[in-house]
Amino acid sequence: MIKISSPLDFPAQLLREQLLELSELAQNQGCTMVKIDREKQIEVWQLDQVCSLASGNKYFKQALYWLAAEVYPDLPLLSFGGPYSNHLYALAAEAQRRQRKLIAIVRGLHEGPLNSCLQDIRDMGASIQFVSRLEYRRKEEGDYLDKLRDQWGSFLHVPEGGGGLLGAFGAQAIGLAAANKNIETLVLALGTGSTAAGVLAGLDLACRRQLKKGETPAAKRLLLVPVLKLDCKPGQKNVLDEVNALRAQLAQINAALWDLEDAIEVDEWVQWECCDTYHFGGYGKFPSQLAEFLSAFERQYPVRLDPVYTAKAMAMSCRALNKEKYADLPEGTLAQPVSDGRLLFIHSGGLQGRRGFGLL
Ligand SMILES: *Cc1c(COP(=O)(O)O)cnc(C)c1O
Repeated sequence: MIKISSPLDFPAQLLREQLLELSELAQNQGCTMVKIDREKQIEVWQLDQVCSLASGNKYFKQALYWLAAEVYPDLPLLSFGGPYSNHLYALAAEAQRRQRKLIAIVRGLHEGPLNSCLQDIRDMGASIQFVSRLEYRRKEEGDYLDKLRDQWGSFLHVPEGGGGLLGAFGAQAIGLAAANKNIETLVLALGTGSTAAGVLAGLDLACRRQLKKGETPAAKRLLLVPVLKLDCKPGQKNVLDEVNALRAQLAQINAALWDLEDAIEVDEWVQWECCDTYHFGGYGKFPSQLAEFLSAFERQYPVRLDPVYTAKAMAMSCRALNKEKYADLPEGTLAQPVSDGRLLFIHSGGLQGRRGFGLL
């Protein structure tokens, strides 16, 4: 089993080029205007359209894993996900395009016909193995990965969600590109937090490079919308601590890559806030309140959203801009209002998951 765990396992030049290329790709994705009322608007940055199948944030998170895969052209990739995993779906699509083998370990024992997502994953050429929820929990244990290696032979391990330091490194491209947009406040749905860590680190990097050149950066504020309940049980990893830890690790890596001083402080320009009242009951929950919001939103605006992530982040965004019009939605927790009435909404993709909720 091959595990490339740090971006610094790659040559520095390659990493810099990769990041700039990805950030150009993000930069080139269009924005769709959503006018909430006469003064307030949301610009939906359509990163969901970055690639027809490997859409959204997963494309950026997986980029360095694909760099690693190029180093080991003969190894299959092995990764983990739930039965409607956007991550496995994107990985399977890209594996097919690159003619690479993928082993998909799917959470939960399964009987009967495959759902639409898993059927696509299989049609794209991946081998699917179902494991019990209990077994699935061991997905990061060395012993368990060894057992999988005995079963499948050597493979390149991509962690669940394509996260970790490599995943967050790729997601920095989104932050780098966002730094060039003339909107202060950004919105992002939060799952494992590796995209959020990357976006923040990308904003940090842009800021530090500007400071080094003697320029004054524009302030940025990232609003994170957890799609799951954050109440942590003792002994569990806290998602927001993870975000901070990954962001700090990336700052160090960037200091080495771009010849920046470690100590440059960016807190004055890059801020974030967590708005944790929009999980709608927890991960994958789609109560009627959210379903009604989504269908009304899609009737009014030419933007499609997925029920698990982007619909929840959009509910927060709409309510933050106009609490009378969106009085039916949960109350927000922002420390300060969005003063200029403008939001840049990072559309992180996930539209294939609509089918799991009977939406086309
Ligand atoms: C996976 C996913 C996210 C969450 O990304 P994390 O890095 O896990 O926080 C957000 N939006 C969509 C559409 C996703 O598929």
